[in-house]
Amino acid sequence: MAQIFCIANQKGGVGKTTTTVNLAAALAHIGQRVLLVDLDPQGNATMGSGVDKRAMELSVYDVLLESASIAEAAVVPDKLKEVGAGYAVLGANRELAGAEVELVGEERRERRLKDALAQVSADYDFVLIDCPPSLSMLTLNGLCAAQGVIVPMQCEYFALEGLADLTNTIRQVHANLNRDLRLIGLLRMMFDARITLQQQVSDQLKAHYGDKVFDAIIPRNVRLAEAPSYGLPGVLFDPAAKGSKAFVAFAEELVARGLREK
Ligand code: ADP
Ligand code: MG
Repeated sequence: MAQIFCIANQKGGVGKTTTTVNLAAALAHIGQRVLLVDLDPQGNATMGSGVDKRAMELSVYDVLLESASIAEAAVVPDKLKEVGAGYAVLGANRELAGAEVELVGEERRERRLKDALAQVSADYDFVLIDCPPSLSMLTLNGLCAAQGVIVPMQCEYFALEGLADLTNTIRQVHANLNRDLRLIGLLRMMFDARITLQQQVSDQLKAHYGDKVFDAIIPRNVRLAEAPSYGLPGVLFDPAAKGSKAFVAFAEELVARGLREK
C-alpha cells in the first residue's frame, strides 16, 4: 500500500512544486517506487519532471472526469529514465482548470482522485500530490486522497499565521471527509541561517509544532531554481548541489519516519 502525501500550502511561491519533484526524485533514488500527481493547472511539476504538458495524451484531468485510469494516464518520462532515476508522472496542464467547473454537481466529486488511486496503490511506495495554491475542488481532491500533508514553508514573518489557516483546513477535512488525514510535517524551505529573522521564525516553529517540524532543512540554492528549465528535478540535474543533498536527507527522514510509525 502506498503512502499518499499532499504537498500543500495555500500560499504561492513557497516551494511546493520544488519539494514535490525533488522529493519524488530523491525517493526514487533511494529505491522507492513513486508516483507524482500534478494537481496544479500550471503544470510546473509536470514540466519540471521532463513531461511536455502541451503534448500529453492523457492527464489528471481525464482521471478526475473518469475517462481514463491512472494506469493509462501516468508516464515515466524518458528524461528521468535516461538519468536512471525514474518515477511516474500523472501530469497536468491548463485543461485541468476546467475540471473545477465540470465537476460541479457530479457525484463524489471530491473523491475522484482517491478512488482512482485506490486502483494503483499496490504499484507504488509513495504517491506525492502537488497542490495548487488555493483551497479549491482540486486541492480538496488531494486532501481527500491523502493520508498526510507535507507543508513546505518559508520562515518569514507571517508564516505562522498562514499555517493556522492551513491546519484548520486539515482539521475540517479530517472531521468531514477523510479520517485518515493528518499533518505529517513542516518543511523549512529556501532557508538561510544567516538571516536572523529566519532563525527566529524557525525557533518559533519548533516551539509551536515540536517534532512536526522535519529535521531536514532545504537551503536556498540556485541549482534547485535552475533545474526546471532543463526539465529535471534538481536532485538529478546536479546531485552534488547543497539543495539536492538536503532533499535526499529529507527523503531518508520520511522513509525512516514511516518505518517508525508502522
Ligand atoms: P510553489 O509551487 O509553492 O508555488 P515553487 O516550487 O514553484 O513554489 O517555487 C517558487 C520559486 O522559488 C521557483 O522559482 C523555484 O525555482 C524557487 N525555489 C524553490 N525552492 C528553492 C530553493 N530551495 N532555493 C532557491 N530557489 C527555490
Ligand atoms: Mg507550484
